[in-house]
Amino acid sequence: MIDALEEKKQIIHHYRRLLRKAKPILKDGDAKLIKRAFTLALEAHKDMRRKSGEPYIFHPLTVAEICVEEIGLGTTSIISALIHDVVEDTDIELADIERIFGNKIARIVDGLTKIRGVFEYGTSAQAENFRKMLFTLSEDVRVILIKLADRLHNMRTLESMPRNKQLKVASETIYLYAPLAHRLGLNAIKTEMEDLYLKFTDQKIYTDIGNKIDETRASRNKFIKQFIQPIKDELDHLKVPYEIKSRPKSIYSIWNKMRKQNIPFEEVYDLFAIRIILDTPVEQEKSFCWQVYSIVTDYYTPNPDRLRDWISTPKANGYESLHTTVMAKNGQWVEVQIRTLRMDEIAEKGYAAHWKYKDNAAKYESNLEKWLVRVRELLERQDLTALEFVDDFRGNLFNEEVFVFTPKGELKTLPNGATALDFAFEIHTDIGSRCIGAKVNQKLVPINHVLKNGDQIEILTSSKQKPTEDWLRFVISPKAKSKIKDLLKEDKRNVAEEGKEILYRKMKQLKMEPGQQIFEQMRAYFKANSQFELTYSFGKGIYTVNDLKRFKEFKPASPLKSKPTGQEDVKTIEQEISRAKGRYDDILLIGEDMDVVEYKLAKCCTPIPGDEVFGFVTVSEGIKIHRTNCPNATELLANHGNRVIKAKWTSQHELAFLTGIKVTGTDRVGLINDVSKIISEELKVNMSSISFRTDHGIFEGEIMLYVNDTRHLDLLISKLEQVEGVLKANRFDSKTN
Ligand code: MN
Repeated sequence: MIDALEEKKQIIHHYRRLLRKAKPILKDGDAKLIKRAFTLALEAHKDMRRKSGEPYIFHPLTVAEICVEEIGLGTTSIISALIHDVVEDTDIELADIERIFGNKIARIVDGLTKIRGVFEYGTSAQAENFRKMLFTLSEDVRVILIKLADRLHNMRTLESMPRNKQLKVASETIYLYAPLAHRLGLNAIKTEMEDLYLKFTDQKIYTDIGNKIDETRASRNKFIKQFIQPIKDELDHLKVPYEIKSRPKSIYSIWNKMRKQNIPFEEVYDLFAIRIILDTPVEQEKSFCWQVYSIVTDYYTPNPDRLRDWISTPKANGYESLHTTVMAKNGQWVEVQIRTLRMDEIAEKGYAAHWKYKDNAAKYESNLEKWLVRVRELLERQDLTALEFVDDFRGNLFNEEVFVFTPKGELKTLPNGATALDFAFEIHTDIGSRCIGAKVNQKLVPINHVLKNGDQIEILTSSKQKPTEDWLRFVISPKAKSKIKDLLKEDKRNVAEEGKEILYRKMKQLKMEPGQQIFEQMRAYFKANSQFELTYSFGKGIYTVNDLKRFKEFKPASPLKSKPTGQEDVKTIEQEISRAKGRYDDILLIGEDMDVVEYKLAKCCTPIPGDEVFGFVTVSEGIKIHRTNCPNATELLANHGNRVIKAKWTSQHELAFLTGIKVTGTDRVGLINDVSKIISEELKVNMSSISFRTDHGIFEGEIMLYVNDTRHLDLLISKLEQVEGVLKANRFDSKTN
C-alpha cells in the first residue's frame, strides 16, 4: 500500500513531466492556465480512484500528455484534456469552466462530455449518438483528437477491467476509434489501438505472433543490413542527412494478412518495410525523394504496379510518401518508403503535426476542410437510418480513394472501386440519373466500368434513361447509392399510385366494393407483403383484370395440406441428434453467476466447446453465443456493449447427469421436428437417445439426455410443454447404470 504522501509525490512528478513536454509550445501565461486546470481536476477527482486502484488524476494527466507528445496538440487541448472528465464525474459545471477558461475550452469539454455517453447506453441509439459525435467533431476537431487520447489511455490500462468490459471497450475501439485515428492520419495511435485490441480479444494469437517476430529478428536484421548497404553508399554521396528505419509491421496487420490470405506467419512476405527518411528543406523534398527512388531502383528492380506517389497527390488523411516495391537479390519483394522528416512526422502524428509547419498550414486546412465538408454532407442525409449512416461512414474510412478528372481537368476524389456511374452522380444527380455510359480516356465504356487513378471521364446521357435496381450494384459511393435509392423510391411511389387508380377502376368494372377488408383479402390472395406492394404490382401490369376476376370467384377454403408420413420428421431428428451430439459435449455457463441458461449459438461463427466466447442478449431470440473473434463480434460489442454477458465452456461430464423425459401429445405435421429443435437447438442438451412412436394420431416420445440439475430439467420440460400439440412432458426414471 502506497501512503498518501508518496502518492502525492507521484502526482506532482507526473504533472511536472507534462509541463516539461509542453514547454516548447507554451506561450506567456499558458503555464498558469494549465496549472489552474490541473488544480481544478486534482481537487474535483480527489476522492476518485481508477479500477487499477491509482488516483483518478493520473488518467487526465496521461491524456493531456498523449495530446502533447503523441498528437502534437497545444495549450487549449492540454487544459481541455486535464478537465475532460470533471463535468461528467464531479459537481463542477460547464458554466464554471466557461468562467475560468473561456468559451472555447468550455465547448470542447462539453463536446467531450457528450461523446462520453456515445456507447454507454444500449440499443441503436448508439449509432445515433455517433452521428452526434461527428457533428461535434466537425465543429472543433480537437474534441475528437482528445477523445482518441482518452481512449488510447483507457486501452493501455484495460488490464484492470472486468472481462466483459474489456471486450466491449476493445471492440468499440477497433470498430470506431481506430478507423477514426486512421482517417485523421494518426497512424501510431491507430496501430497501437489495433494491437491492443488483438491483445485483449485474442491473447494467444497476439503472443504467438509477437514471439515469432522476436524469433525471426536476427535473420531479418541480417537481410536488411545487406539490402540497404549499397543504397547507403550512394545516399552518402547525396550530402543530405538521412536515416534508414526498418520496423516490422504491427502484430495486428500481420494477423490481418494471415487471416485474409489464409496463410501462416512464415508465408507473410512483407513483414517489414524499409523507410528512408531525408532531412531536406520543404522546397526540395520532391526532387530529393525522387532522386532516392532512382538510387533504389538502380540496384533493385521495382514492381511497376506497386509504385505509389503520395507526394504529388497526398492521401485525404494527409499522408505523404513515395512507395515502391523492389526485388531483393534473393528474389524477395521488399517495400521501400521514401519520405522526409516532415512527411514522416505527419504520417505518425497526423494532422496536428501539420500545424507545426507553417508553410503547409494552408494545404492542411484545405484538406481538413474538404473532409469535414464530406462528413457534414453525410450528416445532413436525414433519410439514412443511423446504422446505415455508420456503415457508410465506416465504408469511407476504410476505403482508399481514387483520383479522377472531369473533361475540363477538375480533380474529383471517389472511393476506391468507384464506377463511371459513381462519377456521374458525383457530378450531379441529373447527370447520374440519365447516365447511359461514359468515355474514359476517350474510350467508350459501360456505366459499371471501374475507374482508375488519373482517368479522365466524360459522361454520356440520354433523356430516356431511368435508374433501375441493378444500378445499386454498379455503384459504391454512399452518395450515388442513396441518390439511386431515392430515385427508385420515387419511381415506385408513382407506379403504386398509378396502380391504385387502375385497381379502383377495374374493381368498379367488376362491381366490387373497395374496402379495407377486401384489400386485405386481396393482399393475401396475391401474396403481396403490403398493400403498397399490391398496388405497385397492378401499376406494373403484373396483374390484369382477369386475375382480379379469379380473385372475385375465389372462395377461401381451409388450407389442407397432404397427410404426413412422419418419415421425413424422423430423418431430420436423427440429423439433429447426430449434430447435437458432436457439438455439445461441453456445456456453456453464462453470466456473472455462471448459470446454465438458455442460449443459441450464433450462425455467423458457430462456436464450439473450447472457443473463447461471449453471450449477447438479443431482442427476440434470447441469448446468442458468439466467438470473441466472430466477424460480427466487434460490431455487437461496440454498439451494444451493455447487452454482452460473460460465457464460458465447461466440461459437461463434470456437471451433467443422465435423465429421461417422456413426451406425449397429439400428432401433427412437424411436431416431432419442433420437439427435437427445442432440445438440440434451443436448449443445447446433450442427448443420449431419442425414440418416437405415433399411433392413431397420438405420439409418444422418450428422450434420454444429460441435464445439469433439476432446474435445468424443469426448464426443459416447461419448454417442451409449450410446443403446440404436446400434452405432457415429464421425467421418468430410466434403466441407467
Ligand atoms: Mn477519460
